[in-house]
Amino acid sequence: MLTILRRGNKQTSRIVVIAVLVFLWLDLALGQAATHTIKRGETLSVIAKKHGLSALALAAHNGITNPNEVKIGQKLTIPAKTETVNYTIRKGDTLSTIANKYKTTAAAIAKANGIKNPNTIKPGQKLKITIGTAKKTAKPSSTTIASSTLKEINRPRIRRYRWKHIVVHHSADSNNSIRGMEHYHRRVRRMENGLAYHFVIGNGVNTTNGKIYVGDRWKRQLQGGHIGSAALNEIAIGICLVGNFEKTLPTAKQKASLKALVSRLRSRTGIPYNLIYTHRQYHQHKKLKSTICPGRRFSLRNILST
Ligand SMILES: [Zn+2]
Repeated sequence: MLTILRRGNKQTSRIVVIAVLVFLWLDLALGQAATHTIKRGETLSVIAKKHGLSALALAAHNGITNPNEVKIGQKLTIPAKTETVNYTIRKGDTLSTIANKYKTTAAAIAKANGIKNPNTIKPGQKLKITIGTAKKTAKPSSTTIASSTLKEINRPRIRRYRWKHIVVHHSADSNNSIRGMEHYHRRVRRMENGLAYHFVIGNGVNTTNGKIYVGDRWKRQLQGGHIGSAALNEIAIGICLVGNFEKTLPTAKQKASLKALVSRLRSRTGIPYNLIYTHRQYHQHKKLKSTICPGRRFSLRNILST
């Protein structure tokens, strides 16, 4: 009887141990939500960061509409890795900006929502977004500017209302180097401030593919030399992509860098989206003599909207 009882106990405890292990495994495998009680001095973004989430994702998961209105002692559930939220597209959103907020990718959102063309999304449209799956595995966002470059872009103090437009050019020759362009503008065209553009984006031939070269005219906040009008050179930021886009297309890296650069410059200067032009459009708009720059194969709106 005693031995039987012991055996019974052993079996019972073995079952309990197995059950606990299975439960723990399920808990991990299903990524069951953890909770967090807000402590004094903690903000949503601090808490979110601890869990590898964005503040927005954490707020959305907890139905918090105003992230500034959280209280000490308030309990939050931390979304599991495969948590899905509903998101309504707002004006100005792109799949990439939404993806960045939720630590996922534009491609993942497009796939999950059956979106074939990311340019067709509309404000008010509802999306299901899986949070956090691209946390570590996602490749760096194509809109990332190298930190040393970003510093150069951000460093100059910008006089208020200094810049009104952004104008995009091609160099017309895919073999151009920064030194060559600088030499041409300073020595041949006799521009005392050298390189006529504020920024040049390399194409991988004699410049680094996608690299944003920050020109002296940006660093010193000088007028450009890229427009056929002295008055307009005063108010137009000039960006030149190395290449001849009558013949070839800009590289993917050039496009990504242009988009990122324009976005950074817009937030530094407040230039609205509709005041970004190609050289050709700008000359047309300002009734200056026509130019084919930056070539008929270059589509500014496509680059900026993808
Ligand atoms: Zn041009």
